[in-house]
Amino acid sequence: MSTNPRILIVEDEEPLSLLLRYNLESEGYTVESAMRGDDAELMLKEHIPDLVLLDWMLPGLSGIELCRRLRQRSDTKNLPIILLTARGEEDERVRGLATGADDYVVKPFSVPELLARVGALLRRVSPNRVAASLEAGDLHLDRSSHRVRRGGRELHLGPTEFRLLEFLMERPGRVFSRAQLLDHVWGMDSEIDERTVDVHVGRLRKAINKPRERDPVRTIRGAGYSFDENFGRKI
Ligand code: CA
Repeated sequence: MSTNPRILIVEDEEPLSLLLRYNLESEGYTVESAMRGDDAELMLKEHIPDLVLLDWMLPGLSGIELCRRLRQRSDTKNLPIILLTARGEEDERVRGLATGADDYVVKPFSVPELLARVGALLRRVSPNRVAASLEAGDLHLDRSSHRVRRGGRELHLGPTEFRLLEFLMERPGRVFSRAQLLDHVWGMDSEIDERTVDVHVGRLRKAINKPRERDPVRTIRGAGYSFDENFGRKI
């Protein structure tokens, strides 16, 4: 199985933040939290979760402003965001969505409803996370048997290359820096040099691509790596 989805809660009402944390952890999510908008922005520069629950009114930096900034960053522009707002006015909701949040809930909301929305949004943006096998073009990765095939041939990947491919295939089109890949694929506390990522991406490419075959792993200069979302499509 892949790692649990990570959720960042940005909420300055501590009892609500704790309630959400408790319920999300019970559902198997890994949870981090921030009480201020500016603190959350710093955390999001360090690493990017799978989804953010973002309160509208926050000290430091408002949820709306943080959302706007995240949408301007290439590595967070598609990050799923659910806005939590205490205000119910229609124009405020519209403004929230216009700023780029994927969804919103109006306080007070029911926790089961929020959990359902979190699940729905995660499934919508990354259906691959819950699939038993991942497919893109002629590439097929089976999570349970740890086997990878391309066309008819069986590929032989080391454990790190397998996790790397699985992680990237789960999130086609998203760009990950070397630091983010180290964080997600090697583990949060790894003290490994970032060049290690390049070494393993090289091994992965060698294992999955024959000469002249299209490479699904894209190098984005100055940013990192990404699984080509158009891989397998005729373009
Ligand atoms: Ca608040």
